[in-house]
Amino acid sequence: MIDIHTYMLALGIGNISFAVLMVAYIRDTEPSPGLRFWTCARLVAGTTQLLAFARPQLGLPVLALVEPVGWFIGWALEVAAFCTFFEVRNWKRYAIPIAGLALLAAACIVPLETTSYGELVGLVACVFALSTISTAFVLLSPRLKNPTLLQRIIGLNNGVFGVAIASWAVGAFLRGELNMTEADGHQMAGYISGYMLMIVNGFGFLLMSKQRNDAVMKRLATLDDLTGLLNRRAFLARANEARLLALRLRKPITLLMIDIDHFKQLNDRFGHASGDEALVLFARAAGGALREHDILGRMGGEEFALAMPGTDLEGALQAAERLRQATMAICLPSCGNGYEMTVSIGVVVIEANEDLPAALARADRALYQAKRNGRNRVELGEAVRRVA
Ligand code: GH3
Ligand code: MG
Ligand code: MG
Repeated sequence: MIDIHTYMLALGIGNISFAVLMVAYIRDTEPSPGLRFWTCARLVAGTTQLLAFARPQLGLPVLALVEPVGWFIGWALEVAAFCTFFEVRNWKRYAIPIAGLALLAAACIVPLETTSYGELVGLVACVFALSTISTAFVLLSPRLKNPTLLQRIIGLNNGVFGVAIASWAVGAFLRGELNMTEADGHQMAGYISGYMLMIVNGFGFLLMSKQRNDAVMKRLATLDDLTGLLNRRAFLARANEARLLALRLRKPITLLMIDIDHFKQLNDRFGHASGDEALVLFARAAGGALREHDILGRMGGEEFALAMPGTDLEGALQAAERLRQATMAICLPSCGNGYEMTVSIGVVVIEANEDLPAALARADRALYQAKRNGRNRVELGEAVRRVA
């Protein structure tokens, strides 16, 4: 069985190593919210643990005070990291007075001659248990927005540690046996779950931050800033996947090119902001007129493309007509009655022997036919020319 000092050495080295890695990571990367607090927490916890290891050898009485203060600061920084990461509102209003009170309590209890080292460790363990159980509640809560598996695993680990450490500390307090030199089985369970907590939380928080950064980057890379629709690149990729799937399943897939009519006039008469507003309203109206698995993207400017997997020509013409009507119903608050928004649409069925660029070109030609024929109308694309 290991004693508490050796255990502290292992934890301290682990936490300081995490802190060094995170400092290096943060130096060259834009850290997600909470990661700076988390790095500081690892640094403070690791230093405190190394002090706890070295205390008997150093024999400095002041360390008896420094150590619990270090524990509380490390704990407060961890809470701050989680609150920042999960965007808990007004957390500072509650956390700062609680941390202050905890520090004050530590400063009052430590100098008392009657307080043994074992009792101190027990007290710190109880505070940690409370904090990790609260974290587990947050991460395992069914109300957590879009929880990831990673968050659930970290939550589970926090819960296991919290229960193990609380049952040890409370049990030992009740029995009056807070002997820190010889670890019993119960205490070993606390040690093991604490070690797992250091590894899982240490890496876990960093991975959670990375996961969030990746999600933001993916959003930026695939969505159009203004309308929130797929951008050109993402549309082409998704539409091509849908085309290949439709081909494999022998299902039809149709493609529409949509262009807002006289959009330049709108910009020129009412300003660019009105044009932007029109694009957003069109995207919203189009989204409302389509089915969930239809793929709508902004190809650039006031031009949009729509791929409809599983929809045949008749269905596509109906959808195009719905879009045309929905566009006419859009009311632009900044233009009054000065501009009535309409769209011209080209429709094609993607043929089995046709790739996406070829189908897009056919839909585009149909769209310009609709423009030539007077705008605010739907035009069907010419058939694929077959090489005899
Ligand atoms: P048509 O009926 O033949 O389609 O004519 P149009 O005026 O709609 O088309 P044209 O290609 O002449 O003009 C498109 C205009 O769209 C020109 C460009 O400044 C404007 N535009 C492109 N992107 C944006 C944008 O993001 N916001 C705004 N407000 N305008 C944009
Ligand atoms: Mg246009
Ligand atoms: Mg255009």
